[in-house]
Amino acid sequence: MTGERLKISTNTIVREACVADRITVKNPIVEMDGDEMTRIIWQFIKDKLISPFLDIDLKYFDLGMRHRDETDDRVTTEAAIAIKEYGVGVKCATITPNASRVKEYNLAQQWKSPNATIRSILDGTVFRKPIIIKNIPPGVRSWKKPIIIGRHAYGDIYKSTEIVVDEPGTAELVFSPSAGSEKRIMHVHDFTGPGVIMGMHNTESSIRSFAKACINNALSEKMDIWFGAKDTISKQYHGFFRDVFAEEIDKSKDALQNAGIQYRYMLIDDAVAQVMKSDGGMLWACMNYDGDVMSDMIASGFGSLGLMTSVLVSPDGKFEFEAAHGTVMRHYYAHLKGEATSTNSIASIFAWTGALSKRGELDNTPDVVKFAQAVERVVIETVEQGTMTKDLMLIAEPTVSTYALTEEFIDAVAGRLEKVV
Ligand code: NAP
Ligand code: MG
Repeated sequence: MTGERLKISTNTIVREACVADRITVKNPIVEMDGDEMTRIIWQFIKDKLISPFLDIDLKYFDLGMRHRDETDDRVTTEAAIAIKEYGVGVKCATITPNASRVKEYNLAQQWKSPNATIRSILDGTVFRKPIIIKNIPPGVRSWKKPIIIGRHAYGDIYKSTEIVVDEPGTAELVFSPSAGSEKRIMHVHDFTGPGVIMGMHNTESSIRSFAKACINNALSEKMDIWFGAKDTISKQYHGFFRDVFAEEIDKSKDALQNAGIQYRYMLIDDAVAQVMKSDGGMLWACMNYDGDVMSDMIASGFGSLGLMTSVLVSPDGKFEFEAAHGTVMRHYYAHLKGEATSTNSIASIFAWTGALSKRGELDNTPDVVKFAQAVERVVIETVEQGTMTKDLMLIAEPTVSTYALTEEFIDAVAGRLEKVV
């Protein structure tokens, strides 16, 4: 099904900035521009949904591929430091260069993923949250409320050492204390033939940061926290995660209780089964591998990449918001060829509203929070009343036969927003 283009008049849309009636945002937000199709969407959002309505001090960092290269990627570090300073950031999707991007942009080197750089400076945990819209039903019928995945993004198999052995021999686990005290040696296995071995680790401080970030985000979202591991089998390793997590929950007991937030620890298999049967509405804290796998399961269970937002939360309560998807390269190259595109801007818009809500909450400026909520409501109503981009048209129920182009969708939102704020 391809569908007809939806015709929307765009002539009334860009409201003249009228300084007098704009809402003042008290403290700055760190804005990070990005690449390709999302960079184009970014500008539309700013011009049509942000600048006309808000008097806001944006600390702008251009994380577009060319500017990162020109600054030897210093701009990414500067942006992360600014988020530390101001507490709230909003980021456009960016290219993570691979070999073909190095050629395409003639890069001085294959720069690191900006998200990885920012994450390591903020020591943050990434939470992914789907946007729920009535006529875009999740694949899993019971899911009515968002399920947020919090993935511990350090260690385990992602920082492991592996050996393939091709002869009989003994595998041991050895720990040599730096202070020179006696080594600890554990027997792993006596191989009588070929096999494979892996050594992995995690650190208490990383697990603590992860637990704190989950608690901060659950408080911010007012959602219960679930944590699952396999401590019946891995009594020490998974047991360590369970215990450290529980200690952090205990330290925040009062705050959690006051917010009506419950904590549930369960076996990971039980957690998986319970999530599938639930109506959603929980923050699911996952160990690294579980989070990697389960975030893709949750994303496809909810329907579309264009409806998945992402927030990086640091243990000391700094927040960076973005869309979970990438720069939508295929659409960008179609756009460069002069073809009309229908790229979904909802996750990028929600990155802005997430940042604005958080800014308003931290600044104690309810007008700003109300504005962000109004934008979100208007976006959802726009889709629920049948105006949507092609990716959503393909899965909408009841079916719709037309779709909006990239800019038309944002114009439709802006047109409605004018009437409500
Ligand atoms: P992508 O940008 O997520 O897009 C993959 C495909 O998913 C698109 O071609 C499109 O499918 C669909 N899609 C994703 N977002 C959409 C949206 N908003 N509206 C409509 N359709 C959407 O992944 P990619 O094209 O593989 O990656 C492009 C670049 O993004 C890469 O350089 C990668 O490094 C970067 N990336 C950045 C981030 C980040 O900054 N957080 C995250 C992931 C990837 P159709 O083609 O079928 O329409
Ligand atoms: Mg994955």
